[in-house]
Amino acid sequence: MNLMNDIETSDPKISDMILRELKRQEEGVELIPSENYTYRSVMQAAGSVFTNKYSEGYPHKRYYGGNEIVDELETLAIERAKKLFGCEHANVQPYSGSPANQAVYFALLNLKDKFLGFNLTSGGHLTHGSHVNFSGKNYTCVSYDVDPKTEMLDMEVVRKIAIKEKPKMIISGLTAYPRKIDFKAFQEIAEEVDAYHMADISHIAGLVAGGVHQSPIPYADVVTTTTHKSLRGPRGAIIMCKTEDRLHDLYHANSKKNLAQLIDSAVFPGLQGGPHDNVNAAKAVAFNEALKPEFKTYATQVVKNAKALAEELMALDIKLVSNGTDNHLILIDMRPDGLTGEGKLIQNALDAAGITVNKNTVPYEPSTPFNPSGMRLGTPAVTSRGMKESEMKVIAAGIAKVIKSKGDKTVSANVHKDILELTAKFPLYPGMSILK
Ligand SMILES: *Cc1c(COP(=O)(O)O)cnc(C)c1O
Repeated sequence: MNLMNDIETSDPKISDMILRELKRQEEGVELIPSENYTYRSVMQAAGSVFTNKYSEGYPHKRYYGGNEIVDELETLAIERAKKLFGCEHANVQPYSGSPANQAVYFALLNLKDKFLGFNLTSGGHLTHGSHVNFSGKNYTCVSYDVDPKTEMLDMEVVRKIAIKEKPKMIISGLTAYPRKIDFKAFQEIAEEVDAYHMADISHIAGLVAGGVHQSPIPYADVVTTTTHKSLRGPRGAIIMCKTEDRLHDLYHANSKKNLAQLIDSAVFPGLQGGPHDNVNAAKAVAFNEALKPEFKTYATQVVKNAKALAEELMALDIKLVSNGTDNHLILIDMRPDGLTGEGKLIQNALDAAGITVNKNTVPYEPSTPFNPSGMRLGTPAVTSRGMKESEMKVIAAGIAKVIKSKGDKTVSANVHKDILELTAKFPLYPGMSILK
């Protein structure tokens, strides 16, 4: 067993798959709004010898020896997260977005407690109370929805539901909602009904860090986010919170823990074992990048590109949910094109054209999540590649052709030529073969 074997010689099968995946990513237009291209430096940190370490516990309170450097690493990751988002407390150990949310529920709710979340069909996440998810099975979830006409959230409606249902926690945040979220209004409702407010900014963390979306940090009790979406870091998540438990006397009168301590002990030992120190190193690298002025330019361009893509699509007679976008994502409503329930067909046709998107439900979806009537697109990845408004026009034209053709194979093949020509002008990871 040679520890120094390179993957090309030790495992040609996997090595070949990595190369083929690199080519796929390089040649395609990546429009899945939860995906991004991370920095090479992030991949180097994630692939580093920190993979080998166990460090259950928190900095300077570990169960194993040999953690001097890991303590330094995790402390720096926490400091950078606090500086980037301006939060009072940060826990950088959650493995991913779903476990981060699970940890918050575990910290603040008892089994069967009621919380209020955004309807999955209209833009919420599985972990915001879907009946097939732990969040819907372990807790009692009631949901708020968008207005059927404007397809946007109406905070007065959210408020009325909160007053009627008296949830213990209210969740704000999105996975498929193309509009801004008013975290301040959510907080006011939460305070009015004595509920905790958890903001899940997994999708928009990069926009928040880049200053182009309102931050929930001054308002929400707890904020969770993944690090691999618009934030452009490694796959993982963090939890941020205030120190003080605003509802201590009401819900945790028997506990000596403040909010930060409740969250920390829910992550470890409540839910997880040892942190993934290699990924935490990569999170720290990504936070450092997001602290640079260039990241503001990036986040601004993500939103500009989404606006340009949305306007061009609408000019080509494509219907968008809520008729536009304020953030990084766009939801196409294909019903006016006679494609109700044909999300899968068009997703495949776009795939054949080299455009990667995901089929998605539209608000009040008449079909099913497997065969929905919408298509979700986003601009974080193409913006990381350096594409701007003029490239959005080429992409919009391709998408419109594929949709209007109702998935015709010849049309997809023709659009594919334009896409290959476009992506060839934006090399991804120049010079990279297998990560070295
Ligand atoms: C992506 C996402 C998650 C889940 O993150 P995973 O890393 O896939 O577990 C949770 N909440 C929201 C709002 C998301 O967009």
